Amino acid sequence: MDNKKKPLEGAIVTPVILSSDKMTLSQFNGDKKAWPVYLTIGNISKDIRHQVSAHAMLLIGYLPVSKLECFQKKTWSLAGYCLFHHAMSLLLHPLVDAGHHGKEMISADGYLCQVHPILTAYIADFPEQCLVGCNKESHCPCCLVQSNQCGDLEECMCYSMADTLKTLQCMKFDVEGLCAVFDPFWKELPFTDIFACLTPDILHQLHKGIFHDHLVQWCMSIIGEKEINVHFQAMTQYSSLHHFKKGITSVLQWTGTEHKEMKRVFVSLLVGAVDDHVLTIVHSLLDFIYYVQLQWHMDLTLTVMEDSLKTFHGHKHILVELQVCEDFNVPKIHSLQHYISLI
Ligand SMILES: [Zn+2]
Repeated sequence: MDNKKKPLEGAIVTPVILSSDKMTLSQFNGDKKAWPVYLTIGNISKDIRHQVSAHAMLLIGYLPVSKLECFQKKTWSLAGYCLFHHAMSLLLHPLVDAGHHGKEMISADGYLCQVHPILTAYIADFPEQCLVGCNKESHCPCCLVQSNQCGDLEECMCYSMADTLKTLQCMKFDVEGLCAVFDPFWKELPFTDIFACLTPDILHQLHKGIFHDHLVQWCMSIIGEKEINVHFQAMTQYSSLHHFKKGITSVLQWTGTEHKEMKRVFVSLLVGAVDDHVLTIVHSLLDFIYYVQLQWHMDLTLTVMEDSLKTFHGHKHILVELQVCEDFNVPKIHSLQHYISLI
């Protein structure tokens, strides 16, 4: 009997992974932007999914990019949220019925299977994570932390889908930092917890955020811009290390490569220039950034990640004493404490 005619008993859950990223297409011919949405599934091995030639990531549509000038200026942001959720609802509508009742599909080994596609992950940068979670960018898209407690290492109550929908219906937006989106696209999706779907945004939160916007700036205000450049310039040239001949303040475009090259030598270039407590802070945050990027995680790697974060929080008061900063109530610093559970 042909396998394709032979239905497999039971059903298969297919974890759906979505990704969206609003991008500028051209800076020369007007500010043309596109907002593609991609879909892949968790049943495909990560090694294959990451190969461009495997075409495991499918473009399922484009979201509308509009300046929304037909609305009053103060409502542009909210109109943008509503438009995003409406367009996503239309795009993902087929997942509602298929998730509940399953859909017959032929698997790679030729069997006819009853497949239930369930949204389980949404890859997006921080502003789009807030858009997906219907919350304002000044708030965490995962939990109910208050903006004046972002810098503390304390567990906060996570958003729940049911409570968030209730809050949106009751119109208590400002209380929980939510935006007035009455019909979020995930409302009807079966078995989906959208707040558990959000994934860490390593480029914006760690490379550009924690390292570039905070760690480098803190160190610069302690030892001075000139001195930090001298340290980078004085570095011994080595074949596999990038040599910043003009220092780092003259770098105009900070790409992921520049960040990675700077991080490799940053701790050693600071030895002797900052006190041991500051060095511990730099060391612990860089450790955290490196551990996060491991391709595979075990209990041990998650424990050392947690220890690095605790070390940072245990020493961060030194930066306040040195008058480098007043507090640490920054969403990007807060976001680090969600990494372990999200992984
Ligand atoms: Zn949070």
